[in-house]
Amino acid sequence: MTTGDTPLHHLSAHEASRLLAAGEISAVELTEAVLNRIHAVEPRVRGLVTITEEQARGAAREADRRIREGRATPLTGVPLVLKDNMCTEGIPTTCSSRMLRDFRPPYTATAAQRLLDAGAVLVGKSNMDEFAMGSSTENSAFFPTHNPWNANRVPGGSSGGSAAAIAAGETLIALGSDTGGSIRQPASFCGVTGIKPTYGVVSRHGLIAFASSLDQIGPLTSNVTDGALMLNAIAGHDAMDSTSLRRDAPDYTRALIPDARGMKIGVVTEMFGAGVEPEVRDTVLQAARVLEQAGAIVDWEVSLPMTQHALPVYYILAPSEASSNLARYDGIKYGYSWDGAADMWEGMEKTRQHGFGPEVKRRILLGAYALSSGYYDAYYRKAQQVRTLIRREYEDAFTRHDVLLTPTSPTVPFGLGERTNNPLQMYLADICTIPVNIAGVPAISLPCGFVNGLPVGLQLIGPSLGEEAILRAAYTYEQATDWHTRRPAL
Ligand code: GLN
Repeated sequence: MTTGDTPLHHLSAHEASRLLAAGEISAVELTEAVLNRIHAVEPRVRGLVTITEEQARGAAREADRRIREGRATPLTGVPLVLKDNMCTEGIPTTCSSRMLRDFRPPYTATAAQRLLDAGAVLVGKSNMDEFAMGSSTENSAFFPTHNPWNANRVPGGSSGGSAAAIAAGETLIALGSDTGGSIRQPASFCGVTGIKPTYGVVSRHGLIAFASSLDQIGPLTSNVTDGALMLNAIAGHDAMDSTSLRRDAPDYTRALIPDARGMKIGVVTEMFGAGVEPEVRDTVLQAARVLEQAGAIVDWEVSLPMTQHALPVYYILAPSEASSNLARYDGIKYGYSWDGAADMWEGMEKTRQHGFGPEVKRRILLGAYALSSGYYDAYYRKAQQVRTLIRREYEDAFTRHDVLLTPTSPTVPFGLGERTNNPLQMYLADICTIPVNIAGVPAISLPCGFVNGLPVGLQLIGPSLGEEAILRAAYTYEQATDWHTRRPAL
């Protein structure tokens, strides 16, 4: 077994795949190494709500058979973690909510199923902000997750468990979901790589809905290549999701060219202004210089003035969709049900009162208010109109630029408990990521440095279906630097 100095649990998926194919390691060996790592670090990280140890051992044996028989894909035998808002048949899928604590879905989400079909080995389901509402994973009904780089800091959210699990070596690949930044912001906070694909590229079938016009599943990995490999497996039309694009997925690994010559990259002025920590700004601008040295043509001042409206628009649209999506948790069909009610109305009320946490209730109230008669035109319709303007502003910018560059988060990871009593402060964590969901375009976050030992993320945004452009720019940056090779001391 020759893996150099890298322990098995910190291998990249593509390195692991090569070693598996060469017979230098087995899937069983790799899975055991990852399970051991989980047991060693999980008491400090708390990234997982379920560990699927027995299923993982069975899947690893099957993966070894597949490899021996020459039926392997690049992800066969690779340990996988799924965010706990993705349905897994027979395996608890809680959304980190009391409402779904005992829910075992009768089917598996399409994106998850495609990874399992490719031979990935599910080792666990990850902790998250309840129903994906939050930016720190502190809104989990069960426990907060800790940032592997500093146990007193948050891992970001809402896919904080998946991002922390990658950073901590509790898995090699993971899926998250991103409605306003929930893949990219935790990727940034945990020093890993996260991709939010173009809306419609990855099926949402079996993803427990938060805000359906914004939700998108995507990869969390330790490097850009693994993200492209995961996209290859999960992208592509799915008849079970009516918003899934009718389009065959390209081979995303062909975009992994370590050369940005001729690429036009725009630095978005509004995302380097007030509220952005100066050290974060300097670190991200330095990353732009690296891309310039690699041949990119950098426009240092691209103004997107509609950016200032993105957060207010999001906090009308996302809660409106959430209030409608979450109406199904009535204590009758499935999930938590309060018993002892005198009538149906009391049962429904008590189920929702005890089943949902405070942030979820806040969103339902905001959404129900914005959609109510008399307010609909003033809030929801207006927000939809501004959404169109934001989308057009991005379309226009992409007539001149291949990729836009911003920080992923205006700050490094904040302290646990620091923002839990201030929802507005918490919402501001997503100021750089939310416009991307509103415009429906793809973006990647990858590590670009550290401030006081805490990771900083670089966000690269592409035009609609421009995954290849952001992958190429990200890969060029990654290959010119070594931030992605850093691992927290745990
Ligand atoms: N933090 C944002 C929110 O709370 C985004 C969450 C997400 O992308 N799921 O809504």
